[in-house]
Amino acid sequence: MGRTDGFIKEVDRWSAHNYHPLPVVIERGEGCWVWDVDGNRYLDMLSAYSAVNQGHRHPRILAALKEQADRLTLTSRAFHNDQMGPFLHQLCELLGYARALPMNTGAEAVETAIKAVRKWGYTVKNVPAGAAEIVVCEENFHGRTTTIVGFSSEHQYRHGFGPFTPGFKMIPYGDIAALRGAINENTVGFLVEPIQGEGGVIVPPAGYLKAAAELCGAANVMLMVDEIQTGLGRTGQMLCAEWDGVRPDIIMLGKALGGGVYPVSAVLADREIMDVFTPGDHGSTFGGNPLGAAVGRAALQVIVDERLPERAAELGAWFMEELRAIDSPHVAEVRGKGLMIGVVIKEASGTARPFCESLKERGILAKETHQQVVRFAPPLVITREILQEALESIREVLLIPAAQPS
Ligand SMILES: *Cc1c(COP(=O)(O)O)cnc(C)c1O
Repeated sequence: MGRTDGFIKEVDRWSAHNYHPLPVVIERGEGCWVWDVDGNRYLDMLSAYSAVNQGHRHPRILAALKEQADRLTLTSRAFHNDQMGPFLHQLCELLGYARALPMNTGAEAVETAIKAVRKWGYTVKNVPAGAAEIVVCEENFHGRTTTIVGFSSEHQYRHGFGPFTPGFKMIPYGDIAALRGAINENTVGFLVEPIQGEGGVIVPPAGYLKAAAELCGAANVMLMVDEIQTGLGRTGQMLCAEWDGVRPDIIMLGKALGGGVYPVSAVLADREIMDVFTPGDHGSTFGGNPLGAAVGRAALQVIVDERLPERAAELGAWFMEELRAIDSPHVAEVRGKGLMIGVVIKEASGTARPFCESLKERGILAKETHQQVVRFAPPLVITREILQEALESIREVLLIPAAQPS
């Protein structure tokens, strides 16, 4: 009996019960590894929902954090600081946009993008006051604010939290005809994930985003791509939209933009959209703070210098093949792109949770998403050797003959 139970009991007693974590208490991390309070080592195959693409405690990101912490941490946007400009400059040049607006969490970036396209709709597209519509997809995940959960199709995300913000129209994901049918003269934006992460690693049909971009372009609708989880190398490109050769009108970034050490998010767009904001329209006390900006600069530099998108493409393609080669009675499908991979468990074999628990017993941390899916999304600094070793344990778990593994 180690220290784990005590920590879990304490959290159960004092925390709101809005999560159902695996029973592991982590106290240290390095690269793709974490250690619990009882000294057990685990391979992190979740990467904090892709916020740790650069690996835990990347030395260059930590150095930037410490150096900046010793100089200046927060000014608010009432004053300038010497980190925000260089950060946004680097971010925009890397991704090819004219402007960026820094926030902290992913949900804030999504809210910011919603405000931007609505105001663009009223001031540029001349949509009648109060009539702007944004098209969203079933099974989406864009965060947890009241506006965002208001356009979720997930009962639990919404139930008990209404009334909700109007102005959103829901269509099936991956369905171009539905998008065509949903767009009208008041449509200002189409908000979409290039791969639905929380929805269960759902990869849309090839060319979906490209077709959506063409439809949006023809109808003067802003294509708003949520790259908070898929972006910054995760799927084997800097942005997942690149797989379709698409340059979205607006992108939202978060998670790995803070290198796993600090919450940093941003919205990127060109001037036609971003310049609808005037002083006082929008803001955040911590958005663009010098500590986050310094961390963001280092986080981006690591992704570029260590060629993390290329690594994800190469390792991911190989790893997915290896997973597909496991002749498991429990697996319905293996899907994904780069190092964002979902193993779908057949309903007859129960839910994904016991498989995640068995993996944990073998030193691998993966979290189920949407009941049936085991997600594998390790830090992108992982090596083929480490993945090879993990495959042995994954194979063991997926080949357990009983309906439920143990
Ligand atoms: C995680 C996530 C968000 C929300 O980010 P938070 O930082 O948790 O607010 C939004 N969109 C997508 C696609 C995500 O994966």
